[in-house]
Amino acid sequence: MIKLKEKITTVNNILKKEFLADSRPWVVTFSGGKDSTTVLHLVMEMFLGLSKSQQTVKKIYIVSSDTGVEMPVIEDYTSNKLTQISNFIEKENLNMEVNLLKPKVTESFWTLLVGKGYPSPNQTFRWCTDRLKIKPATNFLKSLTENNESILMLLGVRSDESQARADSIAKRNENHRGFSKHTEIPNAFVFSPIKDWTNTDVWTYLSSYSAPWGEHSDMMKLYDKGSGEADCNIALNPESTSCGKTRFGCWVCTVVSQDKSMANMLRNDSDQWMRPLHDFRNKLEKYRYDHTKRQPRRRNGQKSVGPFLLSVRKEFLQELLTIEQHLISLGKMGSKKLISDEEIVQIQKEWLHDGDFFETAITMSHKTNRLIDYNSVKSFSGDEKKFIENLCQENNIPLKLMEDLMQKEHSYRHQIKRTKIFSDMEKLVENFSNGVVNEI
Ligand code: SF4
Repeated sequence: MIKLKEKITTVNNILKKEFLADSRPWVVTFSGGKDSTTVLHLVMEMFLGLSKSQQTVKKIYIVSSDTGVEMPVIEDYTSNKLTQISNFIEKENLNMEVNLLKPKVTESFWTLLVGKGYPSPNQTFRWCTDRLKIKPATNFLKSLTENNESILMLLGVRSDESQARADSIAKRNENHRGFSKHTEIPNAFVFSPIKDWTNTDVWTYLSSYSAPWGEHSDMMKLYDKGSGEADCNIALNPESTSCGKTRFGCWVCTVVSQDKSMANMLRNDSDQWMRPLHDFRNKLEKYRYDHTKRQPRRRNGQKSVGPFLLSVRKEFLQELLTIEQHLISLGKMGSKKLISDEEIVQIQKEWLHDGDFFETAITMSHKTNRLIDYNSVKSFSGDEKKFIENLCQENNIPLKLMEDLMQKEHSYRHQIKRTKIFSDMEKLVENFSNGVVNEI
């Protein structure tokens, strides 16, 4: 403990000296994990020890990322923490600001997977990290560097985390102040005030001292439930390699072969309500490797395993909405949703491109009590849809078959050679009359 006290004093002195040394804003990255919490706690203590005039030297930005697919318990924890921190900042009128960074709706996990049919991410096609985490963070950081000469990012990375982390810290080209250049963002520098702290130091610190905004006991409980140590802090941490193997990762993550964090939580009776999420995540992984669930062509027309079939995407959305409804009935969602209204609208737009002229995403949502405000952009107006429905009814043609045929025709819209369309349509009709569900 004495040694830790010395480390705390040393970090406090360094932070104070660096804070007062120039006016470049600080960005403290906060993932909700133990290391970033420790750094934020230390920064806050240092800041509160400054005089009011010293506090105005620079602004501190506390930034966290919300992928939209965080594990519900973690999302709950992080958003509660951010609220506590924001309330504290407001109450004390501190020169600090909390920012929650989110991906654009056109680049969200559900828009890309359910809307466009991207296969669930894996090690070779890991499309998620860049869109969900890196881009929103980079955009934010760039906007700060544009308005300031430079910025300093304070990260909670430590050599003690792993050999790989120790190597990457050792390789840094640090200046005399211990800052290194951010690899992607010009004029951004990186500083790791607790790089020499051990795991024990971090845990001892967090269990011995309450943060100015509240206790750490809720975070410790979360750590007790799972296993593994890393934070999925890649968004704001250029040295992170741990995304996808983390407690604070996405609940849909299929980049790891098994979601150990969720699996560990499911050992507790009280967390059984998360099982449908776990099963759904496993389905996403299984379907990815099942070529019957994927289109036989890529979007550019190249023959290869392509996006998920539209029918599979519809199955995903239906299941997601059903799970959400179930979790709401258990009182587990609060005001949160598994998928946002904006994402459902965006998914509908994507599906329209793929021939879903009857706006299934919106209909599905309405049936599960998601009353989405949606300005129809469909190819068929209400009148046209009614006309087709009547025509089918009068001529005894099943509407679903008509929809399948129209969708098939639409799928050939960019192809020069359309000869195969006839056999495809024949197959659709045959399947339909044999009671086989068409996979389009
Ligand atoms: S946790 Fe998994 S799904 Fe989420 S961004 Fe990282 S690799 Fe992608």
